Amino acid sequence: MENLCKNYVIAIDGEAGTGKSTLAKNIAKKYGIVYMDTGAMYRCVTLDMINNSVELTQIDKITELLDKIDIEMTNEDGEDKFYLNGEDVTRKIREKQVNDLVSQVSHIPVVRERMVDLQRKLAKGKKIVMEGRDIGTNVFPNAEVKIYLTASAEERANRRFLQNKEKGIDIPYEDIYNNVVFRDNNDKSSNVAPLKKAEDAFELDTTNYTLEEVEDIVIRKVKEKIQLDV
Ligand code: C5P
Repeated sequence: MENLCKNYVIAIDGEAGTGKSTLAKNIAKKYGIVYMDTGAMYRCVTLDMINNSVELTQIDKITELLDKIDIEMTNEDGEDKFYLNGEDVTRKIREKQVNDLVSQVSHIPVVRERMVDLQRKLAKGKKIVMEGRDIGTNVFPNAEVKIYLTASAEERANRRFLQNKEKGIDIPYEDIYNNVVFRDNNDKSSNVAPLKKAEDAFELDTTNYTLEEVEDIVIRKVKEKIQLDV
């Protein structure tokens, strides 16, 4: 095992609602490594645009926002928090107005360029588990471990619905289902870093597995590639 004690990236990619976040968070917690939710970064950019009434086509204005955007991710008492320009936006970035726009925002070349830069910078010198859509293909094509999760659209919408309910976010199942399908199609058909499995990624259909089962399978795979400290 050549990665003993070295820094590494565990890339977890896949469609919305496949359980990437829970899995990545649990791995990070269990093995004391850094967790990064790259979707939340695109969500912050989207919210910044909404707050400033900037449209998808206003590239100059988007670039201006990106020049001064401040996205901070912290963990407070076990809860991941996101701050946009100093404001706690942990809940706001999960709301419908952001859900409906984020996929389109994430495919604006300047947005992706800046976020990918930031992700690479933040990961430097760390042992990190990073979840998103293009981590194994684009952000870290040489990641030591690449996982690609899938699940049926119904199961994914159901998981999101329950997750939201737990967080007190009230969005009807139908809306979530439609949004999940819309975002996936949009993410897969994009010209800019489309969602697809990296050739060397381990693919797992999680539809019929519990979170614990997924975690067991993935951790076993990870351990084949790198040494995880306990
Ligand atoms: O992971 P989450 O569902 O919060 O991501 C929100 C959106 O951000 C996705 O639908 C996708 O359009 C975009 N995204 C991306 N690249 C990433 C992570 C997320 O394009 N690495």
